[in-house]
Amino acid sequence: MPEEPPVEIGLGNTHPLTGGLGSPWQHTLATAVEQSGVGLHSGIHTTVRLCPASVHQGRFFVRVDLPGQPVIPARVSALHETQLSTELAIAAATVRTVEHLLAALAGLGVDNVRIEINGPEVPLLDGSARLWVEAIAQAGLACQSAARSCYELDAPLWVQDGDAFVVGMPASELRFTYGIDFDLEAIGNQWQSWSPSQMPFQSAIAPARTFGLADQIEQLQRAGLIKGGSLDNALVCGTQGWINPPLRFSNEPVRHKLLDLVGDISLVGLFPQAHITAYKASHRLHTAFAHQLSSRIDQQSKCTMDG
Ligand SMILES: [Zn+2]
Repeated sequence: MPEEPPVEIGLGNTHPLTGGLGSPWQHTLATAVEQSGVGLHSGIHTTVRLCPASVHQGRFFVRVDLPGQPVIPARVSALHETQLSTELAIAAATVRTVEHLLAALAGLGVDNVRIEINGPEVPLLDGSARLWVEAIAQAGLACQSAARSCYELDAPLWVQDGDAFVVGMPASELRFTYGIDFDLEAIGNQWQSWSPSQMPFQSAIAPARTFGLADQIEQLQRAGLIKGGSLDNALVCGTQGWINPPLRFSNEPVRHKLLDLVGDISLVGLFPQAHITAYKASHRLHTAFAHQLSSRIDQQSKCTMDG
């Protein structure tokens, strides 16, 4: 048994994110915090309020603008559409482009959070998870008196579509690896790994922004998508190179794909002890893997990190 956790820690401003993902204990936010902006696909301006939640409640959205304020759990059971972004739905209540916010919450170890939103799409902000991380740091984390569930993957698990795949392998600790391969010279072949025990999410992954290809943007706009996209919230790449440099990392695109993967896998409700590798994958493939992993976990018994 680990030592008893304090009921609540006001971690203050010095180390507001200490004790997150590496802890055996569940965490929530110490206080509520808000962030507003425009959704990438809808172009609709919304406000998100992140509020503390009780142990075992998990991460869940509340559409506060709809009658009855419907609750949409951030779980694979609520997965709906995955065209260019990850969308959750319960009956007619939907919430779209949840992946960057969920990656920030899961990547920093926020297990229980009530996410109030007054519209159908999470704001894109600067295209990365950086402003979500700053909001969570401003709120601070609170340790809770319940152990986190865990799951040790004991055999390989994978989904594949052509040469794209997501695979989970048994491993001694949690690790994510991503690979992409584009014909455009400015992107090319890129790989990135992230292990929470070795690199902080907030500096290694969170700042990586959404990217798009110049020749696909017009097509997406004609299809009624990316109404809220701009050169301020997405990196755009053309045949001559990046249209709006500088990049935050030389391999910022693959780090962003890894950010999306972390957000999509968070819908399982826990990160398994496994090495999860994705290659040329999409939200559809990430979430197909999350479904498989979730079924595998449901078939076997979970443990808690205190054994
Ligand atoms: Zn993304």
